[in-house]
Amino acid sequence: MDYYLKCNRCNEKYGSSYAGQICGSCSGLLEVQYKKKVRPSLDAESFWDYEDQLPKSQYRHYLLGMTPLARAHGDGSLLMKMETLNPTHSFKDRGSAVELAKAAEYGFDEVVCASTGNMAYSISYYSKLYGLRSQVFISTNANKDKINDIKSVGDAQVHWVKGDFNKALAQAEDYSRKHKAFLTGDYCYRKEGQKTLAYEVMQQVHDLTHFIVPVGNATLISGVYKALRELKAANKIRKMPKIIGVQASGCMPLVRAFKLKKPVSYERPHTKADAIAVGLPTFGAQAMEAFKETGGYAVAVSDRELEDEKKRLYENYGIVAELGGVASLAAYRKAGIKESGRAVAVISGANV
Ligand SMILES: [Zn+2]
Repeated sequence: MDYYLKCNRCNEKYGSSYAGQICGSCSGLLEVQYKKKVRPSLDAESFWDYEDQLPKSQYRHYLLGMTPLARAHGDGSLLMKMETLNPTHSFKDRGSAVELAKAAEYGFDEVVCASTGNMAYSISYYSKLYGLRSQVFISTNANKDKINDIKSVGDAQVHWVKGDFNKALAQAEDYSRKHKAFLTGDYCYRKEGQKTLAYEVMQQVHDLTHFIVPVGNATLISGVYKALRELKAANKIRKMPKIIGVQASGCMPLVRAFKLKKPVSYERPHTKADAIAVGLPTFGAQAMEAFKETGGYAVAVSDRELEDEKKRLYENYGIVAELGGVASLAAYRKAGIKESGRAVAVISGANV
């Protein structure tokens, strides 16, 4: 659909020909704004049936999304959204398909990103499909096995960064300025792609009360919230489910901000769940708004609880997922959501 970009910080507007995702005036985050009211379909048969709800571009059609909703053992109150079945085994592919199409459309031949692992894997894969070179900046704290995955699907050049994700992000932004590479990652186009996860879930289940989402950079949770708002505004759903954000107790800036009723502030990550080890989530403020507007909240789970959940998922279902990927299941158990309705837990990634 036709759109423009608007800065979250200084409200400056940019037409769709603006080849960037950060405000040229204040470096604030841009947001995609559609020129007409978004009318999401709840009878899609493929990911690309959502093209009218995405920024207008020259998309190429790949096998993506429409992941199954698996019913957990028991009374049917818990459903698992199997994002591990996307091409690079995580939800990131939804955003990459949209974001890399824009990079190609603007005529870039190189993209750059910062990543905790899964983002780089997905961007490496989609860059190759779109004929783009990719540079990825990864913290030395990241899971080294993920590098093999990244190398196996594309030609990404990996730059190791001593420090955490936020340090890698600063270096990726610097690279994009110096080398005129398209900066990809947790920005506005990716968020639009992530919306499709919520469209699908709301098509798959009608009496949902809780939407449980793991939180790293908070792009997925803010995409889910945007999709739910669009569905509500178009009268496709009566009520938004509560949005529950899950972080590791060793890296829980949102949980802390939610408890203290304060703005989100940086916290140095100490967790083995590398996919959600982000000390200062880019879309943190939007996640806080999602909790407030849907009656949801933020939950922290320990690495031990994540390890147990990962083991249980494999033993009970034969499903492999990573620590960050099972965070939503651990939160479901810990927060006692079973008693209060019907929940979807996003199984976000399986790169172990
Ligand atoms: Zn601005």
